[in-house]
Amino acid sequence: MGWFSRKKEIKKPNGEKKVEIPDGMWRKCPNCLEIIYSKALKQNQMVCPKCDYHFRIGVAERLRIMLDEESFIEIEKEITSTDPLGFKDSKKYSDRIVAAVKKTNRKSAVIIGEGKINGRPIILGILDFAFMGGSMGSVVGEKITRMVELAIEKKLPVIMVSGSGGARMQESILSLMQMAKTSAALGRLSENKLPYISILTDPTTGGVTASFAMLGDINIAEPRALIGFAGPRVIQQTIKQDLPEGFQRSEFLVEHGMVDMIIPRIKIKETLSKILDYLSVYE
Ligand SMILES: [Zn+2]
Repeated sequence: MGWFSRKKEIKKPNGEKKVEIPDGMWRKCPNCLEIIYSKALKQNQMVCPKCDYHFRIGVAERLRIMLDEESFIEIEKEITSTDPLGFKDSKKYSDRIVAAVKKTNRKSAVIIGEGKINGRPIILGILDFAFMGGSMGSVVGEKITRMVELAIEKKLPVIMVSGSGGARMQESILSLMQMAKTSAALGRLSENKLPYISILTDPTTGGVTASFAMLGDINIAEPRALIGFAGPRVIQQTIKQDLPEGFQRSEFLVEHGMVDMIIPRIKIKETLSKILDYLSVYE
């Protein structure tokens, strides 16, 4: 019998059958390498109980952590990208969109809508890193603009959670234009004296950092998140100097005045409630 056609029979020495552990029951912390029971990790808001490492989380998890249960009403779900430039690199852009839609079960890289934080109504947007790295093309820019317009109409504050590789290169200049478009929308929000809170998660980079993610009246970062414009390697090669330790991480950015505060995930809901109260939004 050939080696590869042999049936695998795994038996313990005492003859018992091997107990299969279902996939995903345990997770390994990429920071401290601790093996953590998935259920315990979920209960701890996907933060390592040993070293406080914040795992990257998806949109559903983010909603669960931040908002009151079942308070979120999503709007503009159906808008999806076209391929205005007929762009192709190793794959066609149109194929990449189809694959991302299939993978995430979402039509674009951002969700927007209305929700509640401990009873306080807010307008919320969350970038989905699983959808083409949370990159900003025309659709993300348009949806963020509509989110801000809804906030102005309803006189509610905006909270935006970013996690993104930046502008979407497959839409070239059309992606870059979204930086100006979203910034202008937020300018109108400010004219209407409505607050904008930006939450930066790991990683937030490129054109997203260079526009709406850094324009918060209050910019909040998750611990140890990578936040920057160009990546550290590119900067190092350009300026030909060693970068300081912790460069482009939340803690470094708070120290240098780029971010206002670092809030651990476990405290985010409580902190947002307090900030909304301090800002007297609902009077
Ligand atoms: Zn850990």
